[in-house]
Amino acid sequence: MEINGKTRVCGLIGNPVEHTLSPMIHNTLAEILGHNMVYVPFLVEPGRVAEAVTGAKALNLLGLNVTVPFKSDVIASLDEIDDLAGNIGAVNTLVRTESGYKGYNTDMEGLYRAMTGEGIRLDGEQIILLGAGGAARAVAYLCAVKGAERVYMLNRTPGKAQTVAAEVNRTVGREVILPMATEEYGKLPEGKFLAIQGTSVGLAPHVDDVIISDDSFYEKIHTGFDLIYSPWETRFMKLTRAHGGRAYNGLKMLLYQGIIAYELWNRVNVSEMDARIVYEKLKGCFIDAD
Ligand code: NAP
Repeated sequence: MEINGKTRVCGLIGNPVEHTLSPMIHNTLAEILGHNMVYVPFLVEPGRVAEAVTGAKALNLLGLNVTVPFKSDVIASLDEIDDLAGNIGAVNTLVRTESGYKGYNTDMEGLYRAMTGEGIRLDGEQIILLGAGGAARAVAYLCAVKGAERVYMLNRTPGKAQTVAAEVNRTVGREVILPMATEEYGKLPEGKFLAIQGTSVGLAPHVDDVIISDDSFYEKIHTGFDLIYSPWETRFMKLTRAHGGRAYNGLKMLLYQGIIAYELWNRVNVSEMDARIVYEKLKGCFIDAD
């Protein structure tokens, strides 16, 4: 790709950013679609996110993605915030406006596209959500707004699950999220569940770790969706499959959060065919990908 005087710059702000796959997503899309745009990682020191946004504005950057640890802190530096992102309390995408940047949360919509693409439904579902951190909070909100019947939110620190549940339930106006301690999984009701793994347990290099290892838990799962994509198949996924369930990793969530950000920056729709090209390229980064 030729970089010239008209090239627009997008990027990722976070800490760390060295292992990000986002440049592959955006630079591949720019190449396929013929956009004069380049995407680069920017390492931002803790406490300096406001300066980073001011600098981005001064440099007229087209857009930014935001990752750990700035997804909440960045909100104070925005001119506008999308309703969904405001309700979740986390922003992962900044889009240039005349006066500054508008914040969006494409993680949640990305997860939804990834799930619907696999034929996974949320409406009317009984869901087990493992975790109550930043990602799980967004997932809880997604499940609630998409009509889940009940979401059992299990977390190591039950107080955090209680706080998230109370906030999400208040926002959506119904008691849909039920907080529990992880070790209380034996108290889950009878039936089969969609289980979404939203903790960082099992993330590489700790690939043998799993949040719950008891077989009886996996007998309850018809579909397991792990937000982790490295390793390609987490132990949570292996246990789900070993008990007859379908299992998915989080790479398509990553793919679609990127695609939605790209669509917002460039005001285009990315076709499923182009999404597939990017996905295959991302997959090539995982030696154990099936
Ligand atoms: P976070 O805010 O730090 O939350 C971490 C969660 O994991 C909390 O619920 C925490 O429980 C739990 N946890 C951590 N260590 C634990 C342990 N040893 N035992 C039990 N629970 C433990 O992180 P996050 O931003 O929500 O991210 C969570 C995961 O989602 C990460 O693996 C991340 O890579 C993944 N993710 C994927 C995508 C994607 O595009 N696919 C996007 C975002 C995130 P406590 O509350 O008790 O500490």
